[in-house]
Amino acid sequence: NNFTSWHLTEESDIKKLIKPRKRFAHKGNYGHALLIAGSYGMAGASVLAAKACLKTGVGLLTVHTPLKNNDILQTAVPEAMAQHDMHENYFTTPVYPDSYTSIAIGPGLGQSEETAAALMEQIKLCQEPIVLDADALNIIAEHRQILPSIPKGSILTPHPKELDRLVGKCESSFARMIKARDLATNCKIYIVLKGAYTIVVTPEGNCFFNPTGNPGMATAGSGDVLTGVLLSLLSQGYTSEEACKLGVYLHGLAGDIAKEKLGERGLTSGDIADNIPFAWLKLT
Ligand code: AMP
Ligand code: MG
Repeated sequence: NNFTSWHLTEESDIKKLIKPRKRFAHKGNYGHALLIAGSYGMAGASVLAAKACLKTGVGLLTVHTPLKNNDILQTAVPEAMAQHDMHENYFTTPVYPDSYTSIAIGPGLGQSEETAAALMEQIKLCQEPIVLDADALNIIAEHRQILPSIPKGSILTPHPKELDRLVGKCESSFARMIKARDLATNCKIYIVLKGAYTIVVTPEGNCFFNPTGNPGMATAGSGDVLTGVLLSLLSQGYTSEEACKLGVYLHGLAGDIAKEKLGERGLTSGDIADNIPFAWLKLT
């Protein structure tokens, strides 16, 4: 299964994917997303992902976060419901997935032993595609036996270092892409290999290069924003493949719009989240 096709995503490909918002829609039509994120000292990751999820158009969002982050989250993102973990500082309590349209796990999670154990349980509870990012990926890299239990069609969003932790150190970006493809095809999952020209690798081994984005996005929290975007699109009924292609394009475009106003140096990841609505306006 080492046939690979290469594509450069274009704006016209993306516009075709976008579903119209119905005149008689209600929030139940756009899903109830669950974000499992944050630990003491990393509340911001959950805030950024939650904001991005809402700005991308989800119907309802619940954020599962440790008790100490509860007030921060509810103040920073009043539109989100907060569900606090039994533990004050980090994720220890798996969530029963049935009440949610889709789930993302990882931003700011930390890597404590208890969190690793809870993540293993959480993955086993999930049957539908989930988004896995950041510390969720770092934990999986240390517990590779969980890989076959990740639901088919799930989306993993590693940056190059996270991918290397998952598959072993890669000597070149080409070698990294090939290893990402092998992981995607073996586990029947999507790998979003992040960076300039983020690559979406499909379970069939096809690679889609994303043209949007800029070096101003090389800043803390940019990836957390992408996780929120992907979670939102899955919850709204986009397939994993559509969510990956549209999500990375939209995220990069939001970064490009932020750059027009702020330049590359002053751009922060909150600005990417704030400009998601304007990215949508350019595409619709
Ligand atoms: P993370 O390292 O998890 O915060 O993710 C960084 C995010 O910013 C990813 O979505 C990258 O694609 C994006 N990003 C970082 N640097 C660049 C760059 N030079 N050009 C385009 N996108 C970038
Ligand atoms: Mg990240």
